[in-house]
Amino acid sequence: MVDEEHDPSYKQQEGARYSARDLAVYRGRLQNAPVLLASATPSLESWHLSRPATEDDPGGRYQRLLMPSRIGTGLLPKVRRVDMNKQPRRTVLSAPLVVAIQERVERGEQCMLLLNRRGYAPVLHCADCGWKSECKHCSAFRVFHKIDRTLRCHHCGLTERVPRACPECGNADIAPIGRGTEQLEEHLGELLAHVLRPDGTPVRIARIDADSTRLKGALESQLAQVHSGELDVLVGTQMIAKGHDFRRITLVAAVNPDTALFSSDFRAPERLFALLMQAAGRAGRDAAQSATSEMWVQTFHPTHALFEALKKHDYPAFAASELAERTAADLPPISHQALLRADARTQAAAQALLNAARETLEAQLSADPDDADLVLQVSVYPAVPMSMQRVADVERAQMLLESPNRMALQKMLWHLHSVLHQVRSLPEHKGVIRWLVDVDPQAI
Ligand SMILES: [Zn+2]
Ligand SMILES: [Zn+2]
Repeated sequence: MVDEEHDPSYKQQEGARYSARDLAVYRGRLQNAPVLLASATPSLESWHLSRPATEDDPGGRYQRLLMPSRIGTGLLPKVRRVDMNKQPRRTVLSAPLVVAIQERVERGEQCMLLLNRRGYAPVLHCADCGWKSECKHCSAFRVFHKIDRTLRCHHCGLTERVPRACPECGNADIAPIGRGTEQLEEHLGELLAHVLRPDGTPVRIARIDADSTRLKGALESQLAQVHSGELDVLVGTQMIAKGHDFRRITLVAAVNPDTALFSSDFRAPERLFALLMQAAGRAGRDAAQSATSEMWVQTFHPTHALFEALKKHDYPAFAASELAERTAADLPPISHQALLRADARTQAAAQALLNAARETLEAQLSADPDDADLVLQVSVYPAVPMSMQRVADVERAQMLLESPNRMALQKMLWHLHSVLHQVRSLPEHKGVIRWLVDVDPQAI
């Protein structure tokens, strides 16, 4: 049994990049044992593999079992969309949402606000010369953490005090751009400063994210405070939406979920939908309060299909529209992907290894009539820099392999593996630090 089978953390991101979920399915087959994959928002892979048969499709090899009613007697929360186009410019929390939070605090109920970005602001910026808080070791900005006045790289960990003035031009007026959970917590404190709990004491707001829970036991003690009712409003990253059973939360709000709608990562909408459905499930777990529980979504795209499906708590509708897009673009689960990655001191060295492997592979395959058709079945794309090109001074490049036929892809990878060992030992590739193969990569 694999619970929450859609959770991307089943896929290892270090060392051997295997999927624990797929391993469970494989093991079940070896031992002839049934495997149960459970989720309220299945991965599109599993959903597609469990599609029913039709006239021109034999259907998937999984069997779909539906569980139409919610555990317990609680109702699903009402989903409310706030059209941010109609709010004053630069609004962070819309007025109706702030009022709704205030009413709940005054009634002794709890609220949870989700923002998927920790720190105070994702980047510091000098308006005079254009300096930005880049990390010198990574192709990323260092995040401004106001709480200890540091700039921290979330990729390599480089941490420095915030400079008093712009390091390039000396301008004292360097400003944060964008918003993270720290700033949201501060902003909310200002907006709710006058709000009192039923016992007459001021509202209590707390933040739960990877920063606030760094110390051992910190998460447990923060969660205990939520359960005991000491806290009224929780601000946090997706970390707080997962798995915790908060019975007194009656309002969950996604503050700025739009970035996932137009991400270069084609799985971003699927993850957003799962997160919001899960977060909505946090609200109103208590049957007595579920009638008034609400999920708020602040968006510039209120009519987007994802939010329409969310409003109806309709996973099948979301999956159908998302699968139609994946089919049109030939993306997984319709096609199958693998990523070959190389790390090196220079980008050219990393790409050179990948391109050499590709050329050697294609030459070997076309020389062998048994394998010549593999070249037609599997697309092997040229090497490109990874979207996070440099981390801790290591340059990273990737090469995508894609095929509608999983067997063909596996066969190609088998060939590629031996080719890589050959090519890697050539003297011209000694600058390469490592290479690895990632089947069914979670991000491209
Ligand atoms: Zn400057
Ligand atoms: Zn860095």
